[in-house]
Amino acid sequence: PPAIRKISEKHDKVFVTGCLEPDTSQPRANAAFVVLARNKEIDGVIQSIKSVERHFNRWYHYPYVFLNDAEFDDTFKETVRNYTSGAVEFGKVEPGTWGFPDWIDEKVAKEGIAKQGDAAVMYGGMESYHFMCRFYSGFFYNHPLLLKYEWYWRVEPEITYFCDITYDPFLKMIENNKTYGFTIAVKELRETVPNIFRYASAYKRNNNLTSQGLWEMFVEPQEPKEQHDDPNALPDEPKPSSQEPIDPEAMEGEKYNMCHFWSNFEIAKLSWFRSKEYNDFFQTMDRSGGFWMERWGDAPIHSLAAGALLAPRDIHYFRDFGYRHTTIQHCPANAPARQLPRPPFLETTTLDERKRVEEDQYWESWDEAKENGVGCRCR
Ligand code: GDP
Ligand code: MN
Repeated sequence: PPAIRKISEKHDKVFVTGCLEPDTSQPRANAAFVVLARNKEIDGVIQSIKSVERHFNRWYHYPYVFLNDAEFDDTFKETVRNYTSGAVEFGKVEPGTWGFPDWIDEKVAKEGIAKQGDAAVMYGGMESYHFMCRFYSGFFYNHPLLLKYEWYWRVEPEITYFCDITYDPFLKMIENNKTYGFTIAVKELRETVPNIFRYASAYKRNNNLTSQGLWEMFVEPQEPKEQHDDPNALPDEPKPSSQEPIDPEAMEGEKYNMCHFWSNFEIAKLSWFRSKEYNDFFQTMDRSGGFWMERWGDAPIHSLAAGALLAPRDIHYFRDFGYRHTTIQHCPANAPARQLPRPPFLETTTLDERKRVEEDQYWESWDEAKENGVGCRCR
C-alpha cells in the first residue's frame, strides 16, 4: 500500500542489505520469542520453531516464552524443548486476562458473539478467539514471565521464514530507536471491526493527541467531490485557510481504510505496551465492548494505538524478512516472487502466486543475494 511505501521511504530504512556473517560476539538484547498456543497446535508450533531456528536462532539462541489458557501438557513441553536452541519457559495466562471480564453482562456478550456467528463473521462466533484477541491486545505484555523482558518477537503456529536473518533485529531496533516492527500490512475484514475506528478516533480527539504522521496511514482518502458538467453548478466553496485551527468535530468524518500491521509477526518494545498511554487506549477500547459485540483483532488494536501514539520514525518495516502465515506472505527484494514484473515495493503475494513463481522463475544465488537488494538467502 502507498502508505507503507511512504513510511519506508521517508522515515525508515532497511537495517541490513544482503547477508552478513552472524555476529554473535555482541551481548544479546533483553528479549524473547512469545508464543501463545494450545496443546493441540504442537505440530504447527514445531514447524514454526524449526523455521525460526533454521533462519535465525541457531546463531542467537534467544529464549522462548510459551503461553496458554490451559496447562501445557508434557508432550508439548518435551517436544518444544527438543527443537529450541534457547531457554524455554511455559506459563498459563493470568486470571482476569482471559475470558469475560466481570464488568460485562456475560449474557449480552454471548448473544453478541452468537450473532456474529450467525452473520458468518470470520471467527466472530468463537468465544475463545475473542478471548485471544483481547489477551493479545491488553494483557500479554504484563504476564509475569514477560516482565523481565524489554523486547519480544511474536511467533505463531504455522509460520515460515524463508530468508536467513543474519543480524540481531532487537539490537538494530534499539540502535535505531524503534518501537514497533512489522513485515506485512493488510486490510482487515470490515465486518470484524465496524466501529473500531470511531472509538479510536474519539480516543485520539478526547486526549488531544495530534497525529505525528502515522495516523494518516489508517485513514481512507476522501473521495474527490464528483465533477459534473452542470453549467449552473455553483463554484466550489472556498476552502478554510490552513491557518485556521482544526475543528475536532470536522474530523468525525474520517473513515478507517482497514489497513493494519499483521500482528502474528511483531518485533516490538514491551515498555510501549506497558506505557500509561497504551493502556489508557486499551481501556477505552475495551470498555466500549468491541471485543465482544464486534470481533476486534489485536492487529487493528495495536495498529491504531501506534497510529494515535507513535510517529513513522518509531516504526520499522522488516522488508528483508521473508515471512509467510497461512495464505499471505512477504517476499523481500531478492526472493523469487519479486522477479515478476511488479512495482518494487509490493509486499504481499498469495501462495498461489508464489507456487507459480517457484516453478519457472530465476532464483538468486547466495552470492547474488549478498550483492543485491534486501533479504538474505531466500529459499
Ligand atoms: P489466525 O492466525 O487469526 O487464524 O488465528 P490463530 O488461530 O492462529 O490464533 C492466533 C494465535 O493465538 C495463535 O498463536 C494461536 O495459537 C493462539 N490462540 C488462538 N486461540 C487460542 C486459544 O483458545 N487458546 C490458546 N492457548 N491459544 C490460542
Ligand atoms: Mn495464526
